[in-house]
Amino acid sequence: SNNNSKNDKGVNVQVILRCRPLNEDEKHLVSHAVISCNVKKGLVSLVQNTAHKQIDKSYQFDKVFGPTCEQTDLFDSAVTPIVNEVLEGYNCTIFAYGQTGTGKTYTMEGGMVSEDGEFPSDAGIIPRAVQQIFEVLEARSEDYSMKVTFLELYNEEIMDLLADSDESVTASVDEKLKKPIALLEDGKGGVFIRGLEQELVSSAKEIYKILEKGSAKRQTAATLLNKTSSRSHTIFSITIYIKEEGSSVGEELVKCGKLNLVDLAGSENISRSGAKEERAREAGEINKSLLTLGRVINALVDHSGHVPYRDSKLTRLLRDSLGGKTKTCIIATISPSVNQRTIKAELLKDLYSEI
Ligand code: ADP
Ligand code: MG
Repeated sequence: SNNNSKNDKGVNVQVILRCRPLNEDEKHLVSHAVISCNVKKGLVSLVQNTAHKQIDKSYQFDKVFGPTCEQTDLFDSAVTPIVNEVLEGYNCTIFAYGQTGTGKTYTMEGGMVSEDGEFPSDAGIIPRAVQQIFEVLEARSEDYSMKVTFLELYNEEIMDLLADSDESVTASVDEKLKKPIALLEDGKGGVFIRGLEQELVSSAKEIYKILEKGSAKRQTAATLLNKTSSRSHTIFSITIYIKEEGSSVGEELVKCGKLNLVDLAGSENISRSGAKEERAREAGEINKSLLTLGRVINALVDHSGHVPYRDSKLTRLLRDSLGGKTKTCIIATISPSVNQRTIKAELLKDLYSEI
């Protein structure tokens, strides 16, 4: 779209806002503030009336989706073009970013596709992207292959959501869930993850099953290890290899595209102001990967020279898909209720103000 922020280095980052509907509890709250979405102009306004002052602020996004927007609307308008780029051999990443409870997982995963392949209307970006990928590839004549990985990052530790658990009675909870995974540099600026399960897939149904299995494992682990999922990131990646005819007879070229779908930790896990950041860091409240991601994106967009990829696991993992000839889309999710601290618009500012 012509709204995309492109620059001479080809950095392409889009920021989209999605405001979910009020839930049953929120409908009963008396709120002093109103969020309104101007979908046509891509503007979100916050109007807050208190006894002392009136605040009226507007924020510009590449695209805005309001509370009545369906999963299919968001997908068709914002994600379809990105999936097409992946099929042309680009590495692309879509992030869901926002406070806990604002709809990140709903946006990314949504309703699960049933065993018989029935697609619920609340299916999110991952199943819809998978469906589109297979539809496009099956209509073409080239040969292709595909692999999927699904991992969780918690406290800078990687957990493979596709690894089979050790079910033996003697295994400890940790042994059951964790397999040692090492993040190694490949010497070409990328990383290599030793021990990560890479599932070769040849149908959409297989991927839906993998998604379900991985999500279930994420939940079991959260319960067993007493982790709060609001502090973890999940990365679902699909890598597609497409064989193309070369210009001379018998020559074969392979085009490779990668789509990363990232459900980030709740944005309440970052603190912005200096002194507060210091204290929060000591209390272990800051999510290093989330903080670094913001810095990496800002550095890429401003061309401020040093891009601190190496400062966190998340940015190391995604390095080959952030910056350079890649496309990034951040879907910032918010709740329309302002009684919670949800619309701390300044929480979004770092990620989109410079973009
Ligand atoms: P998060 O992953 O950001 O913590 P969830 O995706 O779990 O938030 O969403 C919180 C709740 O709100 C869930 O019950 C979810 O089904 C619901 N929800 C979120 N976004 C929407 C939406 N756009 N439409 C309807 N329900 C939504
Ligand atoms: Mg979630």
